[in-house]
Amino acid sequence: MDRKKFLQTLGLVPFIKPAMAMNSLSELANLPASEKEMPVLFLGHGNPMNAIEENQFVAGFRNMAKTIPHPKAVLCISAHWETKGTLVTAMERPKTIHDFGGFPKALFDVQYPAPGSPAFAKELQSSIHGTSIGLNQDWGLDHGCWTVLKHFFPKADVPVVQMSLDYSQGPKYHYELAKELAALRKKGVLIVGSGNMVHNLGMVAWDKMNADDYAYDWAREASNKMKSLIHSGDHAGLINYASQGKAFQMSIPSPDHFLPLLYILALQGKNEQPVIFNDKAVAGSLTMTSVKFG
Ligand code: ZN
Repeated sequence: MDRKKFLQTLGLVPFIKPAMAMNSLSELANLPASEKEMPVLFLGHGNPMNAIEENQFVAGFRNMAKTIPHPKAVLCISAHWETKGTLVTAMERPKTIHDFGGFPKALFDVQYPAPGSPAFAKELQSSIHGTSIGLNQDWGLDHGCWTVLKHFFPKADVPVVQMSLDYSQGPKYHYELAKELAALRKKGVLIVGSGNMVHNLGMVAWDKMNADDYAYDWAREASNKMKSLIHSGDHAGLINYASQGKAFQMSIPSPDHFLPLLYILALQGKNEQPVIFNDKAVAGSLTMTSVKFG
């Protein structure tokens, strides 16, 4: 892949009308708590081309999708939506946002016309007490969200609401906010955090783009330690990622792709063990490592 193209980040493309309007979600507040909790997922999304390529990561998403009950809605926390304050999308028909540049037309042609759910967004807003949640009408589904959900729900028949990352807040804020989302798991909502645990685009080994599981030493070291902390349930160690030394600093040069993991950790149930999948590195400085609880 062309380095310049990959790094190029353009603004949003103009609004494109979603293909088919689907029924919006009925009032989640009125839904009875189901007996079984929905799982929660952290997904390493990596290259946007995963949306249209057939590769081991896409296969991993599809295999994982088979293990998950069909949700009533998806709440997605994507690395690619950072705002001042925490917002949730509240439109009936979220647009597919192609928030990248320099990729083939085929990728820009992809639409993911999952409906939104204003009712669910409002319910979320009123159920969170630790902070105030804003309703947003302008965003939509960014590539952190649709490039992966496309493989989980190819029919785009599950309503999707995105929640933004408040860039003015530290990791503890995100972890505590996520704790308040736990009740949604009993209401058939699949909560997905989408980022990459190791994500340093400035260090990408462009000549190793096609090598299988190629990681720099520091990326491997950080990835192994992250997995070890996840396996031992040491959430504090991951919340305090900035104090974990050089390998973590290089792997997390900015918090955006790491923070979605904290949302998912916060939702881990008492007796839930992590299921790790797509656990491979790409181009030295990225990991696709993904986690399911429940
Ligand atoms: Zn990304």
